[in-house]
Amino acid sequence: MSNIQQNTACSGENSAGQLEVAIIGAGFAGMYMLYCMRKLGLSARIYEAGSGVGGTWYWNRYPGARCDVESIQYSYQFSEELQQEWEWTEKYSPQPDILRYANHVADRFDLRRDIQCNTRVMSAVFNEDSHRWDIQTETGDRISAAFCVMATGCLSSSNTPAFKGIRDYKGNIYHTGKWPHDEVSFNDMTVGVIGTGSSAIQAIPVFASQADHLFVFQRTPNYTVPAHNAALDPEYVRDIKSDYAGLRARAKTKPSGYDLPIPPLSAVETSPEDRFQTFESKWQNGGVGFMAAFNDLLVDAAANETAAEFVRKKIRETVDDPKIAKLLSPDNVIGCKRLCVDTNYWETFNLPNVTLVDVSRTPIEKISQNGLCTNGQEYPLDAIVFATGFDAMTGALLNIDIRGRGGQTLQTKWEGGPKTYLGLAMADFPNLFTITGPGSPSVLTNMLPSIEQHVEWITDCISHMHANGLECIEANREAENEWVEHVNQVADLSLRSTCSSWYIGANIEGKARVFMPYIGGFPKYVEKCNNVVANDYEGFILN
Ligand code: NAP
Repeated sequence: MSNIQQNTACSGENSAGQLEVAIIGAGFAGMYMLYCMRKLGLSARIYEAGSGVGGTWYWNRYPGARCDVESIQYSYQFSEELQQEWEWTEKYSPQPDILRYANHVADRFDLRRDIQCNTRVMSAVFNEDSHRWDIQTETGDRISAAFCVMATGCLSSSNTPAFKGIRDYKGNIYHTGKWPHDEVSFNDMTVGVIGTGSSAIQAIPVFASQADHLFVFQRTPNYTVPAHNAALDPEYVRDIKSDYAGLRARAKTKPSGYDLPIPPLSAVETSPEDRFQTFESKWQNGGVGFMAAFNDLLVDAAANETAAEFVRKKIRETVDDPKIAKLLSPDNVIGCKRLCVDTNYWETFNLPNVTLVDVSRTPIEKISQNGLCTNGQEYPLDAIVFATGFDAMTGALLNIDIRGRGGQTLQTKWEGGPKTYLGLAMADFPNLFTITGPGSPSVLTNMLPSIEQHVEWITDCISHMHANGLECIEANREAENEWVEHVNQVADLSLRSTCSSWYIGANIEGKARVFMPYIGGFPKYVEKCNNVVANDYEGFILN
């Protein structure tokens, strides 16, 4: 690990003015974008709402937070030196380690002098006279930039359901996605958690170990598989580092952008005994690789049910009280909502200080002064944790007043669901790029390689424009419509589009129901992006 001193703040001083490239967000996407723009010799600057870098890993600092993609792969690959010097110590790194890595990158590549923190961007308006983006921040900066790159993240706009009475509550309310920087202790407290998604499933065992009593308010049970996290064997790390490029190249051939073996076998064509052994071995190995036990789990309902039933059996075997086990058992498609990965989640419900409260039929009525009310009963609580997720993929973008040609707002353009060309650009919004935007594989893949691929595509594009004296690039409407249609068509081929998940916006009231990420897989998507370039930026208008 480098001994460069870690500076967790940003040092870019407030400066308004003319820029070549304005970047919104200092997560992994924004930081790499800045690095690449500097390499092109362009003036670029990041505007970041938080007080530090790291994006998701800056905000989601709830106890138990860790990445459920192996850190060896959930990391940048653009710098061989960085890959070699950084030491991941656990298979699935906890949030503080990933945040330390983000800070290391900011220092290692001297990025901070162009990162302006505590600066929320409020609006970005395309100026049709100057052909530039006029950007305004909450702190009063006015920036004019030739290009505007939204590196705002897919899961960064937290969702807090508007329960009645929230304001009257006397205790503290927390959201997993906006966890305080100061340590939060639940010792000797009665705590309530709303939600049982990935965040809650990681946090609940930790809260249970602290709280006097923990109430878990569950609307829909979720499938989770054990992480079996462990310290990384230094010999294994040495092996990876001796051919990191090989690992990265293999990963890029996989639909998930993650080096997981693709199984040649179908679950329905495998005998029950062999199927059980395969599931068991994946289970023992841990992590999201469970869904890679067979090749038909996400396309064939009968195959999917074999995996779902395997997990339900594990729940029945683990949870002592059969009634609680039943309540914790999902009955829908496994992997339709994102599979969760846990450490001792089911076991937690055997503890005497943990109570599961089913709010599926009797929704949470209100938050009272003293706690939470459901089914005519008040649960007195000293603190409430909202683990209620995010307005995914579109929320962070729509929170900014983005206006393209003719003053058209993004809100209007996306009324019926997000419309983009390749999740990268949009008709009527020239010189505006989105990193891992809706319509790209993003959240269905290992985010880091997906981010790098987008950043490099945008960098090549800007470089091409400079080399050819071009001022504006904009998706053409026909190409955008065709891409949106294609994204919807491939989504329909997968069981993933069949349930009420955040992938289709179902968790946000009033949000259009459209399967947002591109499910065709990383290699197919990269091939499409490369072909677009090879065919002279097919589907784009350049001038
Ligand atoms: P989530 O998966 O959307 O879960 C939100 C939970 O809150 C659900 O259980 C939901 O119930 C519940 N909920 C929402 N509104 C409610 C209401 N009004 N009443 C009762 N319950 C309500 O959010 P998340 O857990 O933050 O995870 C989001 C995504 O972030 C994950 O899918 C994953 O992609 C990512 N993530 C990754 C990691 C990791 O790498 N380890 C960790 C955390 C998160 P319903 O299901 O009934 O809507």
